Amino acid sequence: MSRARKSTSATLPAALRVEPGNTVGVVGAGQLARMLIEAAIPLDITVRLLAASEGDGAAQVSPHVLIGPPAAYTPLARLAAASSVLTFDHELVDIQVLERLEREGHCLRPSSSTLAIAQDKGRQRRLFSARGLPAPAYAFLREAADVDRFGGTHGWPVVLKAVRGGYDGRGVWMPADAPSAMKLATELLDAGIELLVEERVSIERELAMLVARRPDGECAVYPVVETVQRDGICHEILAPAPVDAALAAEAHRLALDVATAIDVSGIMALELFLSAGKLMINEIATRPHNSGHYTIEGSVTSQFENHLRAVLDWPLGDTGLVAPAVVTANVLAGPETVDLHRNLPAALAVSGVRVHLYGKAPRPGRKVGHVTALGQDPVETRARAVKAAAILANRAPVEAGR
Ligand code: ADP
Repeated sequence: MSRARKSTSATLPAALRVEPGNTVGVVGAGQLARMLIEAAIPLDITVRLLAASEGDGAAQVSPHVLIGPPAAYTPLARLAAASSVLTFDHELVDIQVLERLEREGHCLRPSSSTLAIAQDKGRQRRLFSARGLPAPAYAFLREAADVDRFGGTHGWPVVLKAVRGGYDGRGVWMPADAPSAMKLATELLDAGIELLVEERVSIERELAMLVARRPDGECAVYPVVETVQRDGICHEILAPAPVDAALAAEAHRLALDVATAIDVSGIMALELFLSAGKLMINEIATRPHNSGHYTIEGSVTSQFENHLRAVLDWPLGDTGLVAPAVVTANVLAGPETVDLHRNLPAALAVSGVRVHLYGKAPRPGRKVGHVTALGQDPVETRARAVKAAAILANRAPVEAGR
């Protein structure tokens, strides 16, 4: 990477040289950008960041930081001017600003039209139904009475979802019954939140697919994984998922279909429910994804490297697993204060685990790191990853099987 002083204002130091072809501008500077930088180093790719603040996880480890809001035109235009391609570590962007950058000739991967779908659960649901893809029944809510009509047709209980802006289960509500769903919908609609109502699916397992896709449509697909969720938050990722070959092939087909339909460039994650033996699509993300952190140690090519390769339109790397079992356990901060650095040596004493800390303050419920273990046996491998993550977060390890 070229060297430069850290920029603390919305201006890039003039001394920063743009190296055509290998400078990736990343909008957002959280843990995904931090792990992208790690993957960029061996390929001598320069990653420039647009960070909301100097303390952001990736801004802490990069000399190429521009500080500014991710939805405003000026900082984005500056980042784009200093990069060969712009990519994103979150979806909280303004599509009209991105369209303007594209009209001005900047290269955005994924494009504004792909991101417009990724940031809108309503558009995703419409796309899935238009293509005949399996997904939960849904309806847009104009008034609270729409919830009652939906529940009357599709049954109770239901799920309410914010159309935009949700993550880690924030923006997803599971009211227990019809009266509480109506009351909640009234409150949320009154607060100006655009809402969807969905059937509450009885979930056997949650699965996820990752696809890396180049601008010309070439794809590399990772094996299907299981994501173990509690309270709307992903706690563990088990690779490969314990599902049969026919189901894995169907997940692969769905992932390719959606990646093509939204014309994604870069990594796309597809979140799936397994219900009554059948797959249903929950949602997509068009960036590296928490369900793919296992790929750093567990795959021939990590999702971060393949994202960089895809957005630079370079050949994609092998997506195969390097061990029979790969498990990632997220480190989730609990309600009590936790000192991750103090706990780190004890976590590292767990055999063979790889620890990633994101440089984030451990506020309750926040993902502040993850641990990956590789092994021969899924149960033993999972136990090691879960143990090290629990040590880091001062939690009792949760037994496999939830
Ligand atoms: P987020 O965008 O916050 O990740 P999701 O739409 O992925 O929100 O929902 C978070 C979690 O809530 C899912 O992983 C799943 O466990 C649960 N969930 C979401 N939609 C449904 C549904 N229709 N039926 C049952 N559970 C659901």
